Amino acid sequence: MSEYVDVLIIGGGPVGAALALSLKDAALSVMVLEAKTSPQNDPRMLALSFGSKLHLERIGAWSGIGNATPIDTIHVSQKGGFGRTILTAKESGVPALGYIASYHEIHAALVSKLAPETYLAGACASEVDLSGDCGTVDFDYREKRRRIGAGLVVMADGGKLVEHVKGIAQHQREYGQWAIIGQVRTEKPHSNTAYERFTPDGPLALLPNGDGFSLVWTAAPESAKKILSLEKGEFLERLQNHFGDRLGKFADCGPMSGFPLALKYSTPFVAKHLALIGNAAQTLHPVSGQGLNLGLRDVAALAREIREAEAIGSDSMLANYSKRRQLDRAGGIRFTDSLIKLFSNEIPVLRAGRGLALAALDCAPPARKWFSRKMMFGIKAGSLL
Ligand SMILES: Cc1cc2nc3c(=O)[nH]c(=O)nc-3n(C[C@H](O)[C@H](O)[C@H](O)COP(=O)(O)OP(=O)(O)OC[C@H]3O[C@@H](n4cnc5c(N)ncnc54)[C@H](O)[C@@H]3O)c2cc1C
Repeated sequence: MSEYVDVLIIGGGPVGAALALSLKDAALSVMVLEAKTSPQNDPRMLALSFGSKLHLERIGAWSGIGNATPIDTIHVSQKGGFGRTILTAKESGVPALGYIASYHEIHAALVSKLAPETYLAGACASEVDLSGDCGTVDFDYREKRRRIGAGLVVMADGGKLVEHVKGIAQHQREYGQWAIIGQVRTEKPHSNTAYERFTPDGPLALLPNGDGFSLVWTAAPESAKKILSLEKGEFLERLQNHFGDRLGKFADCGPMSGFPLALKYSTPFVAKHLALIGNAAQTLHPVSGQGLNLGLRDVAALAREIREAEAIGSDSMLANYSKRRQLDRAGGIRFTDSLIKLFSNEIPVLRAGRGLALAALDCAPPARKWFSRKMMFGIKAGSLL
């Protein structure tokens, strides 16, 4: 084999690109294979936690995300039931609880810092062999098949290749929900407040973005398809009925897109010469905006293990990475999954219990602060700092 690198990353989405950038000054050979030739305008607007902002600052990508809107307050409520809670940046002792930025802009800010020989756009990995003394990956690039060896192969491909890896099981459960996403404008200004409203059909989030909101509206697939086919006026009326009038009238909206939602995770998330990060390791429901934030914490932990390793890709290095990420990853999966199970139903006793839980949180500032910090920094608070 003629080509060899220390770290080969399959998938150059935001998580794969962030890992390459985190290793930029580490005196290691790192290569990213990204199947797409040019960036595509992904319509997702993502909530980055304050912890993720610090990480992106540290690796030099935050300055490229010029249009992020800070979140000062998060308002959590349930439709058709009592109880609500309000989380604030001030109470948590941070400048903002999080920031809303587009997938496209976050991705572009990361990739712009990587050399073209590090980030191979248009390189699609097809085979991964982990049976030898190093990992080996076959990929197609500029109409040629190439093979490269690596001390460590990192899968950051969103989970597409994992099913071919021996010894790793991929678990998947459909939520029976789609996320409808797009931009909306309301009569009242957002005042940097994000709204998370739980409804029997699924959660609805309005995230402050520029001078309007980014909408994430979850609904059953058939219902989502109908909503997506509505004329603008009908769409706004339906949204108004669903969310209520806390923000006055829904005045306008842009084009909407639909994303089917499923929980997907791999166990274990390491194998010989291999580590999984981001959506390849776990793909979550977008409720409470945890997916990319969790992925960036995977990146921080793996970059640290790679830098400190005596042998990159060794069993002990991978065991350390696995141990470091176990708790936060399991917590993220359980937290988002439980929210959906708990809030997406109409059983009266559960509705009352949810109301009581929200009301109790609202009366307990230390609990609110604890909760906010876990959302910002992960289960092992401080792991990013
Ligand atoms: C509606 C919605 C809203 C969301 N909101 C939030 C939010 O507010 N906050 C948050 O933190 N997260 C949110 N998420 C989750 C977030 O989008 C993901 O967690 C994040 O995009 C994962 O990044 P990734 O790089 O791991 O994977 P991806 O973004 O899926 O990137 C994978 C990359 O791998 C490439 N690839 C695939 N196969 C190959 C191959 N064989 N060879 C080479 N390259 C390959 C793909 O082209 C792609 O570029 C949301 C998700 C959805 C669906």
